[in-house]
Amino acid sequence: AKAPEHGKTLTLLLRSANIAMYNAKKEGNTFNVFTFSMAQSYLVRLEIEERLRVAANAVELVLVYQPQIDTQNKLYGVEALVRWEDEKLGFIAPDKFIGIAEYCGLMPKIGKYIIETTLSEMSALQTHLNVTFQIAINISAQQFCHIDFITVLKQSINRHNIDPMLITIEITESLFIDDIDKVLPILNELRGEGICISLDDFGTGYSSLNLLRTLPIDELKIDKSFVDDIMNDVQSLKMVQNIISIGKNLNLTLLAEGIETLEQKQSLIECGCDLFQGYYYSKPLILHDLEEYISDISREIP
Ligand code: C2E
Ligand code: MG
Ligand code: MG
Repeated sequence: AKAPEHGKTLTLLLRSANIAMYNAKKEGNTFNVFTFSMAQSYLVRLEIEERLRVAANAVELVLVYQPQIDTQNKLYGVEALVRWEDEKLGFIAPDKFIGIAEYCGLMPKIGKYIIETTLSEMSALQTHLNVTFQIAINISAQQFCHIDFITVLKQSINRHNIDPMLITIEITESLFIDDIDKVLPILNELRGEGICISLDDFGTGYSSLNLLRTLPIDELKIDKSFVDDIMNDVQSLKMVQNIISIGKNLNLTLLAEGIETLEQKQSLIECGCDLFQGYYYSKPLILHDLEEYISDISREIP
């Protein structure tokens, strides 16, 4: 940080230097020169963090559920997605606040709330409608590695009397960057309980084929970015075909996310994809709307 542009007093100058250092650390081994836009995003982050502490206590978080459909057009499961509307800041997207919750250590608490609410709502719904379907929950890296994670999950499963085989844990490849030896035993324990493991956003991360071969997982979620271009870009179509054949060789279930059109769905069926999720079928639904969606079982999906 330079004087006097970035601070006319020592305190202000040090504060600017700190913000630049925070950015440099975030990017890894690098250096950063302070800019005012850094300060701006720092302040936004601070404000979200402050409001999130309130939300985490007052339970301002809501869950919505997006249907997952099989090749027979039957409901296979739902993915639970968290929503947060702050009275001061308005709607804040999960990919924005989850990173902040991880950074400031709030994620285990928020994650516990997400697991408990999802299992409570979905077990009641399954009993009420007399149906069973898979329940997928996203687990962030920090939540996954937290010492209480498995206990929290098991307690919630027991409390709501859910068959663990109906639960899918969605993780991302970022979990494997740091400490695979720490992650593997947890994955194995979950699998030992009968819980399914799904690798979310597949194709956007760092997985090597060798890693994929050794991971105890059940499902690959093909990232929306491939599905987006599948109709107009041969490379994306080839990528999807390759991901599906790799997945099949490893005995994994293939789920495509972000399907928005009939053409995309048909193309993915031709590629051999097993499961489908996206706005074409349904947006994520609040509990009441999900109940209607499932009740309307005669619904014909074109
Ligand atoms: P994700 O797990 O890959 O979830 C898929 C995202 O794509 C969701 O966004 C969903 O609403 C959106 N989506 C689904 N189908 C379509 C489609 O056809 N078109 C478009 N344009 N979008 C579609 P959302 O809910 O904003 O979540 C974003 C990310 O935030 C999630 O990506 C996940 O990584 C994270 N997230 C959401 N809820 C939770 C949660 O409860 N816990 C954790 N740890 N992460 C969560
Ligand atoms: Mg997901
Ligand atoms: Mg995804």
